[in-house]
Amino acid sequence: MAVNEQDVELIVKQILNQISGSGAAPAPSAGKTASSGIPSTAHVAMLTELEKFEVKEYPMPEVGDDDILVKVEGCGVCGTDAHEFKRDPFGLIPVALGHEGTGEIVKMGKNVKKDSAGKDLHIGDKVVTCMIFKDDPDITMYDLNKQNIGGADVYGLLPDDEIHLNGWFSDYILVRGGSTVFNVSDLDLDSRILIEPCAVLVHAVERAKTTGILRFNSRVVVQGCGPIGLICIAVLRTMGIENITAVDGNQARLDFAMRLGASHTVSFKDFQGIEALSGAVAASFDGHMADFAFQCTGNPMAHANIYKFIRNGGGLCELGFFINGGDATINPHFDLCSKEITLVGSWVYTLRDYATTFDFLKRAKGIGLPLSELITHRYPLEQINEALKTNLAMTGLKIAIVNK
Ligand SMILES: [Zn+2]
Repeated sequence: MAVNEQDVELIVKQILNQISGSGAAPAPSAGKTASSGIPSTAHVAMLTELEKFEVKEYPMPEVGDDDILVKVEGCGVCGTDAHEFKRDPFGLIPVALGHEGTGEIVKMGKNVKKDSAGKDLHIGDKVVTCMIFKDDPDITMYDLNKQNIGGADVYGLLPDDEIHLNGWFSDYILVRGGSTVFNVSDLDLDSRILIEPCAVLVHAVERAKTTGILRFNSRVVVQGCGPIGLICIAVLRTMGIENITAVDGNQARLDFAMRLGASHTVSFKDFQGIEALSGAVAASFDGHMADFAFQCTGNPMAHANIYKFIRNGGGLCELGFFINGGDATINPHFDLCSKEITLVGSWVYTLRDYATTFDFLKRAKGIGLPLSELITHRYPLEQINEALKTNLAMTGLKIAIVNK
């Protein structure tokens, strides 16, 4: 980078400062460094106590030879964030949260050349990080027992360190060398914010495919039309499956399910008892039971019920219990054995699913699925407490922090 007049001015000021004996760096409130437009401080929303974020100001850190400084554009609010906000189950407070974030590279170390998929990285590229360690692409989740502070692989869910720029609920984040990072410059902002939840569904469908039951012409039921169920429908539709029945109790969500690729909807509020409900699902498939089902709610009763929607020899992917939602009671004889159901569980994703997700988002846009409408609420960083409360109230679908 060429040294311009303002750079020189800054250097001279610093030298004068040192000569004068104070030795102090320019005050954090000095504002932007005119050369690159990078301010001297960053803002990070720190969860300082239960249900309370404070936006803190920290000095902009040094960018090491392997590091990337990213100006944050936005970050989705995840169920995990809400869980941490409300209960701090991992005992992380004070902690910088936000892992579904994206932004633009504003500075990077001289050793940084390529992303985790081998794509070139340049100043100005849009990137995301990933919760999966790139040195082990087969593990499906970060290890919370791994203390990777200082060389953090994972952002937005680990104990804080002296740098503090560790979460995407911020205006700048320092992606340390060795972290998983992807160049996603060819995706728009909304798509980039949706990558992480979409990867959960790409993985679930990959798990479903291992049963050998899911085919182009399968009759598929998706139970639960929160963000996960809705994205599930979009993934299935994008891969060419046309016969999809969405089950939920919220008419607005069912209407949206149709726009994301469902062919039929069933509101469980219209039917009394599981017999009537499974009859309605069968009616949506011209009297047939589903070949395959995706269970996308965290309700144990919903898990117990979904077997009744599936034909003998059919398949089920259970992905609704991201966290422990309690025990479900099924009848192993009637529900599982005598029907010869093939059951798979799904949780999080692998690194390879992440890369597949970028293509899914492009294809979904290509066939006109309004995925970006999943983001129902956008808040500036200063209103992060309201954003988390909206998430907990479950009045919207995807809540996002979007920086100006
Ligand atoms: Zn998430």
